[in-house]
Amino acid sequence: MPDSLPTNEIYLENAKKAERHLERFKGSVLGHFINGKHTLGAAGKVLDNISPINGRVINQIAAGTAEDIDAAAQAARNAFPEWRDMPATDRRHILHKIADLIVARAEEISLLECLDTGQALRFMSKAAIRGAENYRFFADKAPEAANGLSMPAAQHMNYSVRSPIGPVGVITPWNTPFMLSTWKIAPALAAGCTVVHKPAEWSPLTAMLLAEITAEAGVPDGVINLVNGLGEDAGKALTEHPDIKAASFVGESATGSAIMKQGADTLKRVHFELGGKNPVIVFEDADIERALDAVVFMIYSLNGERCTSSSRLLVQESIHEEFIERVAERVRNIQVGHPLDPTTEVGPLIHQRHFDKVKSYFDLATQDGAKTKVGGHALDSDGYFVEPTLFTQASNKMRIAQEEIFGPVLTSMTFKDEPEALAIANDIGYGLTGYVWTRDTGRGLRMAHGLEAGMIWVNSENNRHLPAPFGGMKASGIGRDGGDYSFDFYMETKNICIAFDTHKVPALGKRP
Ligand code: NAD
Repeated sequence: MPDSLPTNEIYLENAKKAERHLERFKGSVLGHFINGKHTLGAAGKVLDNISPINGRVINQIAAGTAEDIDAAAQAARNAFPEWRDMPATDRRHILHKIADLIVARAEEISLLECLDTGQALRFMSKAAIRGAENYRFFADKAPEAANGLSMPAAQHMNYSVRSPIGPVGVITPWNTPFMLSTWKIAPALAAGCTVVHKPAEWSPLTAMLLAEITAEAGVPDGVINLVNGLGEDAGKALTEHPDIKAASFVGESATGSAIMKQGADTLKRVHFELGGKNPVIVFEDADIERALDAVVFMIYSLNGERCTSSSRLLVQESIHEEFIERVAERVRNIQVGHPLDPTTEVGPLIHQRHFDKVKSYFDLATQDGAKTKVGGHALDSDGYFVEPTLFTQASNKMRIAQEEIFGPVLTSMTFKDEPEALAIANDIGYGLTGYVWTRDTGRGLRMAHGLEAGMIWVNSENNRHLPAPFGGMKASGIGRDGGDYSFDFYMETKNICIAFDTHKVPALGKRP
């Protein structure tokens, strides 16, 4: 049970190391990092950072105010010209140094992330390394960030160049906070932007490590700033600040909508990576073993707190019964436990509020007429543990099929044929990802093109490729990250048009 601590040796070793890394945060207030310095900020108010594992206070964080955001935005504005004008090859060097330092501290980052978020170490140990990969990828792209197009016309030469937009705000969620922060901040720095980062108030620890690592790697003061605090205070002030030219946001769709309103007066450029309720569609001709692995992995990994999770399972009627029995068997076997235990597959949910939200769907499912095939309860614990849950006999109108639950909870439905599968999959407000399992190449292609989502995987779980566009349609987002797409957001494109001096310039007021 989650409350009785594991006894295996690897857990004990992990726990000892984690405790050592946690020492600096315990009993103190984690402040902000502004202009290369730690500060507790203007107001002196604090927030408790609560452990998902036992509901106890891990540490406190400073509750950033508009004044703190202003100080950070000023620092970012002052640092911008030097960072923008630094040769891109020098920026490349510094970004690689950041990656080196992340790798050197990968274990510390992973262990702290587990304690702060409740995510299992089997996933988090890779998250720090993925963060380093993000820096290396964008480091190598830095020298080409300013590149544009050459567009010759008959009597003019047009070419475009890109330049960094200025200081930008980055607002991140709590589900995989370190990796997501690197995914948003690395391209901003590579492009030549300076950054004010507002991490999620429920998982603040590793954001500070990232800010410190970035400064240690040789980024000048003010290039990276971090302000902790609530979204409705610090986050709001960041999106309203006139010196912040763009807001890059990852979080809930409703928050994205609020940020768009908040940024309206300053005409903020926005990039939104929002929620998802993603379909995984299994046809009768699929490779059933591989599909089964992927279906279970894509909803129960990362506690189901994953924007790309396949939370709606659509199975063709002819194989439905057998397939669902096999999914159910797997779900019953999933190991729920302490995040630092190497055998743990699902850890506790992030926070009491999120725990209550996920639990509320256990009742809603029954009220709406679905069947709880596996799970459907919270575990008896001081932490925020729920049973991995599988709902069957659902219809697409039910709330468990339409709303993002963001927990280890899968809603399954059936379909007759390809058109019905597509209709059910698209009958939803979200459009982040879609997964299709079939051995019929033509059908895979037809489904991939028909699905209303920003990212489709055919015969695969979510597999990341850094140059490829990442982002969603409909309520799942605006804009794309990855490769050159990230630079398009963080940079202004300027067209330059030069004449060959052969065209006729219109003349006014000229007497013949
Ligand atoms: P959230 O929207 O509650 O919070 C995200 C961040 O926004 C936090 O830092 C929060 O403090 C801040 N915030 C809240 N209100 C704000 C406001 N008014 N102005 C400015 N900032 C504000 O999201 P969450 O609960 O932390 O994260 C879970 C959500 O994130 C899920 O919906 C998930 O699907 C989504 N997500 C999406 C992606 C993606 O790539 N599409 C990736 C990860 C998570």
